[in-house]
Amino acid sequence: MMAAGQAAQAGAEVILLERNARLGKKLAITGKGRGNLTNSAELEDFIVQFPGHGRFLYSALYRFTNEDVRRFFHEQGVPTVEERGGRIFPQSQKASDLVDAMRRFIEQAGVRIHYGHRATAVGVRNGAVQYVNCGERQFAAEAVIIATGGASYPATGSTGDGYRLAVELGHLVETPYPALVPLETAETWVRELTGLSLKNVRVHLTVGKKTVAEEFGDMLFTHYGLSGPIILTASREAVKALRKGANPVVHVNLKPALTVEQLDARILRDFNKYSRKQFKNSLGDLLPQRLIDPVIKLSKIDGELLVNQINREQRGQLLAVLTDMTFTICGVRPLKEAIVTAGGVSRKEIDSSTMASKLIKGLYFAGEVIDIDGNTGGYNLQAAFSTGALAGFSAGAQE
Ligand SMILES: Cc1cc2nc3c(=O)[nH]c(=O)nc-3n(C[C@H](O)[C@H](O)[C@H](O)COP(=O)(O)OP(=O)(O)OC[C@H]3O[C@@H](n4cnc5c(N)ncnc54)[C@H](O)[C@@H]3O)c2cc1C
Repeated sequence: MMAAGQAAQAGAEVILLERNARLGKKLAITGKGRGNLTNSAELEDFIVQFPGHGRFLYSALYRFTNEDVRRFFHEQGVPTVEERGGRIFPQSQKASDLVDAMRRFIEQAGVRIHYGHRATAVGVRNGAVQYVNCGERQFAAEAVIIATGGASYPATGSTGDGYRLAVELGHLVETPYPALVPLETAETWVRELTGLSLKNVRVHLTVGKKTVAEEFGDMLFTHYGLSGPIILTASREAVKALRKGANPVVHVNLKPALTVEQLDARILRDFNKYSRKQFKNSLGDLLPQRLIDPVIKLSKIDGELLVNQINREQRGQLLAVLTDMTFTICGVRPLKEAIVTAGGVSRKEIDSSTMASKLIKGLYFAGEVIDIDGNTGGYNLQAAFSTGALAGFSAGAQE
């Protein structure tokens, strides 16, 4: 949508082919329906949020910055607000407002939208694009921007068509795999905690003895394992380890604001307060109710014991569980449940200063169809907007 609108503003006659009956189905569900559209981070910090490949985005993020995105939506009547971690949301807290704004923008720019039109092939003659096929229909074109998204959440329309189109055009496509994806644990008891979210915890992910990721924030238990923002971010390293045949381990520190000594003192205070109660009835001040039973089981202390019978060693066992609750990761959820798709059209064959194909004249790529994937926090939408805008500027100005 951004690519189409910018190309039209640059003077091109633009047709937008959308396979769905409406625009922006995925955009409408971003940020749990609140639309975390970008982040207030500096450009260099953005680059870091695309581990190992952020440099590719430099020109795009420079030409159409996070400030440009905010200004763009503001001008379309969607003011934005900043939240924790620099995350930017529409003031209305409605991702659907972003979709409406995009639609207004492209309609005003004169883009003709064809709904229910699924692109099936891009035609090339003498090394330059000529047309796009949509089933029976054919649209002549001097430039084509492929912005079909990744292969996650296929019900939104992004089923990976762009990968196939790119391969047919001779482009290399790095094998798509899930990124920002919930993790499956070997511990099936987590099922009992489904829906429980933990705020301000610290997790670190180990592979063998090595810590490969560390995150602070919120996480969520699900019927298969772990999810929530910090787990999704850590999942990048978990996926890498699993692909190498290793089983990474997630360690959760439930009380990261306290040192072990402070936590021990805190437990002692509670134990004094509840000294005549059973152990299982003494943790209510420290833990969410649903977490008490699993913590007791993991601590291997008899829940029926009176608190004043618990010895120092047992208190040590409890401390260990509270500061290092471990989960063995045995898999990740499938690609269709990933927030973004890693892999995609190889960056090597795209000119990062224009988003043009290096192989075919008049062909451009934008958004998640490219082999880019960022962390949570608004980075992925910004990358889509920036690469979309750059592809639009370039295609619209094409001679
Ligand atoms: C649940 C969820 C929450 C998310 N939340 C956030 C968030 O808060 N912040 C953030 O930065 N990122 C978020 N993301 C990631 C972000 O939504 C994507 O990275 C972004 O939408 C990619 O944009 P895109 O334009 O490349 O692709 P898409 O948004 O997937 O759009 C591609 C469009 O192309 C259409 N299409 C596909 N194939 C064809 C075809 N052959 N012919 C015609 N049309 C076709 C599709 O129908 C679709 O409308 C979230 C993702 C998910 C799944």
